[in-house]
Amino acid sequence: MDTNNRVSTVDCPGCGRANRVRTAASGAPHCGACGKPLPWLVDADESSFHAAVEQSSVPVLVDFWAPWCGPCRIVEPVVEELSRERAGHLKVVKVNSDVAPELAQRFNVRGIPTLILFAKGQAVDRVTGAPSPATLRGWVERHLATRQPT
Ligand SMILES: [Zn+2]
Repeated sequence: MDTNNRVSTVDCPGCGRANRVRTAASGAPHCGACGKPLPWLVDADESSFHAAVEQSSVPVLVDFWAPWCGPCRIVEPVVEELSRERAGHLKVVKVNSDVAPELAQRFNVRGIPTLILFAKGQAVDRVTGAPSPATLRGWVERHLATRQPT
């Protein structure tokens, strides 16, 4: 098994049970107790990005951020909410651009926050800067509406 495929713990929004969730997996994680889809919000870096994002069968919202970035803190709660509301249909992957500058360069990230939406391993759209929560939410939901897995 890939040593970069870290395990984190998330509480099931349905029954409250703590579940272990991997950075990368096929399909989306579901609660071991009640079967509900679990919010999937993980961190990735250079070594885990390919498996976490480009090999995901679920659409991925990648959040390029940095600890010193004020506007990133405006975006953060919105993407966390989306990961809960869209559990099973959206994965959120946070990339600290300070620790993964090569990824930021590869995806031409010129300012943060930059949010890039991936579908089937391809970057399909992006937003740079901090849009209002409603704008950000609308942008993600528009994409998800056209990209539901069958
Ligand atoms: Zn559950």
